[in-house]
Amino acid sequence: MAEAVVIGAGLAGCEAAWALANAGHEVTLYEMKPEKYSPAHKSPGFAELVCSNSFKSTRPISAAGLLKEEMALLGSLTLEAAKETAVSAGGALAVDRDLFSAAVTKRILAHPKIRTVTGREITEVPEGNAVIATGPLTSQAMSDAIGALCGEKYLSFYDASAPIVAYESIDRERTFFATRYGRGEADYINCPFSQPEYDAFYDALVSARSVELPPFEREYFKVYEGCMPIEVMARRGRDTLRFGPMRPVGIRVPWTGHRPWANIQLRRDNTEGDLYNIVGFQTNLLFPEQERVFRMIPGLQNAQFLRFGVMHRNTFLNSPHLLDRCLRLRKRESLYFAGQLTGVEGYMESAAAGIVAGRNLARQLAGKEPRPLPADTMLGALCAYISDPAVAEFQPMGSNMGILPPLEQQERNKELRYTKMARRAMDSLGRYLEEETA
Ligand SMILES: Cc1cc2nc3c(=O)[nH]c(=O)nc-3n(C[C@H](O)[C@H](O)[C@H](O)COP(=O)(O)OP(=O)(O)OC[C@H]3O[C@@H](n4cnc5c(N)ncnc54)[C@H](O)[C@@H]3O)c2cc1C
Repeated sequence: MAEAVVIGAGLAGCEAAWALANAGHEVTLYEMKPEKYSPAHKSPGFAELVCSNSFKSTRPISAAGLLKEEMALLGSLTLEAAKETAVSAGGALAVDRDLFSAAVTKRILAHPKIRTVTGREITEVPEGNAVIATGPLTSQAMSDAIGALCGEKYLSFYDASAPIVAYESIDRERTFFATRYGRGEADYINCPFSQPEYDAFYDALVSARSVELPPFEREYFKVYEGCMPIEVMARRGRDTLRFGPMRPVGIRVPWTGHRPWANIQLRRDNTEGDLYNIVGFQTNLLFPEQERVFRMIPGLQNAQFLRFGVMHRNTFLNSPHLLDRCLRLRKRESLYFAGQLTGVEGYMESAAAGIVAGRNLARQLAGKEPRPLPADTMLGALCAYISDPAVAEFQPMGSNMGILPPLEQQERNKELRYTKMARRAMDSLGRYLEEETA
């Protein structure tokens, strides 16, 4: 069997190495710890959890739960280790982080097909068959090497994401499609504010509570004016937003014929048009605060938030321009990316992306074509989203029910809808795996 290299023994790298090795290939897994640590990594073990110890919900009809069910079918190493080291956490899967890392490390070290090289920072992109899984805090030298290969403009160093809401949850009676001055296609949904609405929104925004960033991130964001959170911009003055992301110029409200006092635009975020992001609203507010304050936007009073805004240090590729649905670099077929670096967001999503990259490189090494997962599975939909060239201004994405294609027959009851979507996903994945062994 052929040989492959995996760089980074985080969640994604361990899963990629595991999938490759279980398919019978010889793998060399490189990790720079304990010689060199990112600002967030502290312990020498593999698959270190740098912050929370939770892998979110296990409910099969939630996005996080469905993703786990799929990962279990795909033979996930990290999920198995997580179940073994779980601590009590209600409906969530949370782990003892040290035991979890030790359980993953032990399995990797014991695998006869995996050779591990620790304390080695890789500074060049390998020429041969490889998976790069160096994570959101990829070392500088490797970032430079990836930038040189893929193009500097296709590599980002921080998330500055605005929230994304479900199209179906936007009140279409209080909003309207239009572009500024009526130029071009009317692609934006506009949320017009009266003066009292603006004042109330402004007061809530500037007094809402934010996430406390760790010192290394605070220093980083001080330097970057371009990714200023909306709440920080708002504190510069009551009217600053009305001359910035909430400017009403070129907009007329169809039912009054007048310009609104302020206006927020929502931009379509995917090909299907069922996700919309709040333009210019990158934010660092706590998630419950985002829900409370942004539901004051006219038309978003019942908004379903599919992704909350986040701001943190995060190295990630502009994957829609670079990767295919199997996480292979379009311009170099022997090279795959995995984990947070591909623009997925979250522990389990990163690990799951490692499975996708590892399985597909394994197929390729066995002389087969890579094979994308069905788009109606959570993991398949995530890969489809991050490699969809129609995604405007790409920002990382976690698993959520909104990225799954709609059911053939509309189902208004949310619980039933999610149940059917989850069943469809598991059936699809089951068929996909049967076909693979047939
Ligand atoms: C500060 C911070 C907090 C986060 N908190 C959460 C959270 O609470 N919940 C959540 O779901 N997600 C969180 N995330 C996002 C993400 O889920 C995790 O970062 C996750 O660990 C990503 O997995 P990964 O395998 O892609 O990268 P990592 O787990 O970071 O693994 C990458 C590995 O590559 C190694 N490496 C880096 N460069 C090189 C190199 N050049 N050569 C060799 N090895 C290298 C690193 O040492 C590391 O071991 C957080 C991210 C950050 C940055």
